[in-house]
Amino acid sequence: MESPKAPENEGERRKALEEYDIMDSLPEEDYDNITRIASQICNTPISLITLIDENRQWFKSKYGLDVNQTPREFSFCAHGMLNPKQPFIVRNSLEDPRFKDNPLVTSDPHVEFYAGISLVTPEGFALGSLCVIDDHPRDISEQQVEALRALASQVVKLLELRKLNFKLKRTEAQLKASNENLNEFANLVAHDIKTPLNNMKMLSDILLADPSLQVGEDGQLCLNMLGRSAQQAVDFVNGVLSYSKSTNFLLENKEKIDLQIFLGEIIQRAGGPSHISFQLPDVSISVFTSKIALYQILSNLIGNAIKYNDKSHGVIRIEARQEQDIYYFQVQDNGRGIPTDRVKGVFNLFYRVDPQDEQSSNSSGIGLAIVKKLIEQLGGKITVSSVPGEGTSFNFHLKK
Ligand code: ATP
Ligand code: MG
Repeated sequence: MESPKAPENEGERRKALEEYDIMDSLPEEDYDNITRIASQICNTPISLITLIDENRQWFKSKYGLDVNQTPREFSFCAHGMLNPKQPFIVRNSLEDPRFKDNPLVTSDPHVEFYAGISLVTPEGFALGSLCVIDDHPRDISEQQVEALRALASQVVKLLELRKLNFKLKRTEAQLKASNENLNEFANLVAHDIKTPLNNMKMLSDILLADPSLQVGEDGQLCLNMLGRSAQQAVDFVNGVLSYSKSTNFLLENKEKIDLQIFLGEIIQRAGGPSHISFQLPDVSISVFTSKIALYQILSNLIGNAIKYNDKSHGVIRIEARQEQDIYYFQVQDNGRGIPTDRVKGVFNLFYRVDPQDEQSSNSSGIGLAIVKKLIEQLGGKITVSSVPGEGTSFNFHLKK
């Protein structure tokens, strides 16, 4: 008997095999289908997908055989792997000096006929083979060898898919970890910035409240300004933080949402005044998306439509429809509108059209920036059109 030599690139070859993380994995239907078909086409009782490890050949799929692996020194495939571009065919092992006293020939499963095609990766490494085995000497037709070749290339594609899948999962895990690190960092920095600002604000409050200090009118003005600036800076930091966190929950599951009921809840929670009426879509559609994200989007738009409405009969109309792979939404109001030269900026973070006005006193200019970011994360786009004094319309779509 002749034991197979190791190929010249054995070290790299085994490293390549490890990247598939396939040795000792569970049986899989896709691979088992291939060995079954190979056996049927070549009319043999046994077909195997073998992978050659340091000291063993292990079977990813075995049709007509019970053992999971055999020693590498007895492997036919390991011989074939030395010349991976050619099919390896042994028509009669009993007369072949390399195999005639091989225990796999002399005892079960009596490999007296063998035909194998090496499984060669795109980088050129032979990992093992797809082979068919019979227990008596025989021949194989050219067409059967061609069919085996085609099936072996399918096995390589399955292996590549497996590797790609692992890579994707690893990248996803790394991304998640780095995102968490970034969040932690942002929280830490925000805390470090906010602490001295809060101290500043507290100090100015204490100084203002202490009559024994006899702070003059100018002093009071300065202290008030100091306190307000500190508070504004704290709000700013909080705003940046909530904007940066706003899409994290998109990683959560998507679910089916009955839009009519959902809009009802949003409007109820928004608590608009009684002179504002709502027109909802005539027919309810069922939307499959992230519930939290859609809530954020619609409640921000509806909240704005309420807040910036200056008419004695406010009307807010919400439309929704769907096509094959897109949902379309529109939130339209008859409010004060947005001056034409300012419309462009409304999706920018901290942008307020008129920071001095009454409505803007409790505004931070974050809402629409978050809305835009969420919609884009859901594969959609938002646009706005407005007629000053007459009303504003926000249109957006989401990918199904
Ligand atoms: P918040 O962060 O609390 O939402 P905000 O409402 O000021 O604050 P955005 O929702 O981002 O912030 O809106 C940005 C600006 O766009 C608002 O300040 C407002 O001037 C203008 N705006 C938004 N929606 C409307 C609307 N429906 N009608 C008129 N102006 C609007
Ligand atoms: Mg808003």
